[in-house]
Amino acid sequence: MSFTTRFAPSPTGPLHLGHAYSAILAHDMARARGGRFLLRIEDIDTTRARPQWEHAIYDDLSWLGLTWDAPPIRQSDRIEAYRDALHELWANRHVLFDCTCSRKDILSALGAPQEGAELPFGPDGLIYPGTCRDDREMHEAFPDKTTLRLDMSKAVQMAGGGPFTFQETGTPTDQRAADYTVTGDALIRDVGDIVLSRKDFVGSYHLSVVLDDAYQRITHVVRGADLFDSTKIHVVLQRLLGLPTPVYHHHRLIRDDAGKRLAKRDDARAISKYRADGCSPADIRAMVGLPVASDTATGGGGTV
Ligand code: GLU
Ligand code: ZN
Repeated sequence: MSFTTRFAPSPTGPLHLGHAYSAILAHDMARARGGRFLLRIEDIDTTRARPQWEHAIYDDLSWLGLTWDAPPIRQSDRIEAYRDALHELWANRHVLFDCTCSRKDILSALGAPQEGAELPFGPDGLIYPGTCRDDREMHEAFPDKTTLRLDMSKAVQMAGGGPFTFQETGTPTDQRAADYTVTGDALIRDVGDIVLSRKDFVGSYHLSVVLDDAYQRITHVVRGADLFDSTKIHVVLQRLLGLPTPVYHHHRLIRDDAGKRLAKRDDARAISKYRADGCSPADIRAMVGLPVASDTATGGGGTV
């Protein structure tokens, strides 16, 4: 299958230099390989996504000179696919349970630690202490408007027991390009029972990302190193749902002068701001340390 990659921003604020780096890198990799570059609007969290930010994304990417090879897909149009997968995991695979715990309940089940105490954190936040896991009621119907968690121990079993491996071609911070393997035990211990669907919207980042990457036939996922730790979750979900595992390429993060990585609220680094200040797309490439067209320089270290 030909190289196919994607850029998958959430329309919850302006794209900044970190997004520009990610999008241009993925786009350039696709173009260099005669492959495809696709867009996906990750607007599953309807409490935060706004149409004006989606329009701004198209506008910024076009201004940067990027082109995409199919109409963008939107997660808000894929809710039925997420619901079908959740139904499969609930009714046929029995690897989900409904959870009514508040954050406070979870903290107290973890031993009501004092402020500042060591809490068990995984790539998806606090590692769930298991409170509701054994209370799963055998509902006939798939429960709507409820938090659904993946029973990681059952999921590992149903996914073949592991170990789970993926190919990494990027160089995420302190990692090297290699094949990465995670054991079932490590998933149970270090990730735990993650949320796959929320009370206020169907699905979750981890569920939708694996379904959408398969739906868009993504062969290479190019994204920031901050998502490297989530990849093991994606691989176990792919095994569970019978989906292919793409090759992953996690890239360095663009940092500000203080070494902090850029966040959504870094409006000062918004692409639109640089544009308004008279910068060119070539200036943006240079600022994030990417080669400018017909230029072989690789630029600086990506500090802006
Ligand atoms: N929507 C995610 C973000 O804005 C990217 C998810 C991905 O590339 O897997 O950070
Ligand atoms: Zn619970």
